[in-house]
Amino acid sequence: MKASRYLFITAILMLFFLAKAEATQNENKPPLNVILLIGDGMGLSQLSSAYYYGDQEPSFSKFNHIGLINTSCTNTKITDSAAGATAFATGQRTYKGAIGVSPIDTSAITNIVEILSPLGYKTGLVATYSVTHATPAAFYAHIDSRDKQEEIAEQLVTSDVDFFASSGLPYFNDRKDGKNLIPLLEANGFEMEIQTLIAKQYKPSKKYGYLMPPESMPKKVEGRDNFLPDATKMALDYLSQNKHGFFLMVEGSQIDAAGHKNKSQMLIQEVLDFEKAVGEALEFAKKNKNTLVIVTADHETGGFTLGAKNGTKDDYDSHDYSIIEPSFATYGHSATLVPVFTSGPHAEQFQGIYNNNELFHKIISLIK
Ligand code: MG
Ligand code: ZN
Repeated sequence: MKASRYLFITAILMLFFLAKAEATQNENKPPLNVILLIGDGMGLSQLSSAYYYGDQEPSFSKFNHIGLINTSCTNTKITDSAAGATAFATGQRTYKGAIGVSPIDTSAITNIVEILSPLGYKTGLVATYSVTHATPAAFYAHIDSRDKQEEIAEQLVTSDVDFFASSGLPYFNDRKDGKNLIPLLEANGFEMEIQTLIAKQYKPSKKYGYLMPPESMPKKVEGRDNFLPDATKMALDYLSQNKHGFFLMVEGSQIDAAGHKNKSQMLIQEVLDFEKAVGEALEFAKKNKNTLVIVTADHETGGFTLGAKNGTKDDYDSHDYSIIEPSFATYGHSATLVPVFTSGPHAEQFQGIYNNNELFHKIISLIK
């Protein structure tokens, strides 16, 4: 009798201490910074081009944990960027063209920025297209169609986003409805910088917006400067002042456009530019260990491939394997699975093959 009673008390005590240990662990759970870099339209061949056309080892090589994601949306097997980004931002798949809304009744679905901001996280968005374009929009807006970019711009003004750098100025100050949203952004705490990307002495109490004049920035092959890597670094300088963690989304926006146009040189230069932004994120994460870096794509564009220079159909020896001849299968998107690379705390949880919306749930489960 005595022995069993002793065992019983020991078991209770052990349970008590285990529970307490777990509670302390959760209380002390440090903030987790998350940097999500999305190459719009960047399939495996696009990403591979960095290995053959760049002049250094691509930063992609620094990732040890690799997965693949299925990018389909609810109404079509081949998604667009709106549904693709909505899956990442909200954890729910939706229909092609939808921004942050349900496929059932177009009601708003809470996004990662709206979840993390009340928890004390700072949030930022960087892109080389308009901030109102589908990919960044899914991280703050809720609207039935990606085409309503003026309304999307209005939703940015009242969103939880703390930092943004992109093009798209006309959607804010040269609008069909005549409204000027720049003073509204300023009234909402933003220090705005128009036309120039200059680093500042950022204050954690303020918010910062950089808007470049055109709807879309110049292509890399047309002389776009280091906007994407530079803006990524600036965003990290600002966001990392916050001791409660941050979420940053960086988009290599124009890889997709190069795929649509079937322009391989344009595509390669956009991938190399994106790869530099990935390098900035990894450099930051090296010094700030509690940073999870995720690189992925919303879908593949163009059916791009890095095939050998073609010979004739029936003569295997006629192809020239010393020459890569990039080519495309479509002017649209494709259903090819896209890669996801992760580095940092819990990076191993992103391995495997899964649906695009699972990425959101994986991130949230690490934070909550
Ligand atoms: Mg995009
Ligand atoms: Zn596209």
